[in-house]
Amino acid sequence: MNKVMLVTGASRGIGAEIALLAGRSGYRVGVNYLHSADAAQAVVARIRQQGGEAVALQADVSQLEQVVTLFQQLDVAFGAPDVLVNNAGVLANFRVDAVDAHNVVDVFSANVFSAYYCAREAVRRMSTAHGGKGGVIINLSSVASRLGGLGGGAAYAASKAAIDTFTLALAKEVGLEGIRVNAIRPGLISTDIHEIHGGIAKMEQMAKSAVPLGRAGAASEVASVALWLASDSASYVHGSVIDVAGGR
Ligand code: NAP
Repeated sequence: MNKVMLVTGASRGIGAEIALLAGRSGYRVGVNYLHSADAAQAVVARIRQQGGEAVALQADVSQLEQVVTLFQQLDVAFGAPDVLVNNAGVLANFRVDAVDAHNVVDVFSANVFSAYYCAREAVRRMSTAHGGKGGVIINLSSVASRLGGLGGGAAYAASKAAIDTFTLALAKEVGLEGIRVNAIRPGLISTDIHEIHGGIAKMEQMAKSAVPLGRAGAASEVASVALWLASDSASYVHGSVIDVAGGR
């Protein structure tokens, strides 16, 4: 397989697991990151050790001009993406009465505008209307979009609700142009993102009672769903928002 997958926020957590599984599945992988250069290079090294191809690409995907450069760098390294995974995201912990000119903008820039910017560049390359050969876009939402998030998570929850709706709208826009669009809605997954709420151990303790399966999920359990959505096995799955949440 010579397909190309770009995973945003792939230095750590869910994105890193998606990138690693993509590498094992034969994709050439663009491993985007923001600050964690060493971690991103470690993901690339693991993919190469397993015989795969990958490249680390630094870009703040909340900034349109950096997204343009990111896709240009991917073009040079591997060519246009067949699969875009809009995974990069941040959790936030502030009440609505603490909103200021920056915090809510930062959350929506990282979690929502990033998906629009990356989707724009992907559609310009994938769409048959633009001379492309089609592709797959996968957006990372969260069960916070339907549960309202944890305390102080109103901006995060609303940003993920925007991703759910963006997914449905984009699916309508580009379905006839060879592009399938879906979202994954993870529940409590053991990653660094939970530092803001007291860390992974505290979250995993909470998951024992909050999650019907009685445990937090592993990033690899989200990655396997992403790789399935990217594959032809999911050829009629389009405009769907798929919970990977242990029943929560
Ligand atoms: P994580 O462990 O905190 O990792 C976040 C990743 O996103 C890192 O690679 C980080 O890069 C990158 N990133 C953040 N802002 C970025 C930006 N502006 N530009 C480029 N990269 C950026 O998070 P995670 O738990 O794996 O979450 C991944 C996605 O799943 C997020 O969209 C999150 O909202 C969603 N999700 C997670 C959970 C969960 O329980 N973990 C549940 C539901 C949904 P650096 O390492 O360089 O900073």
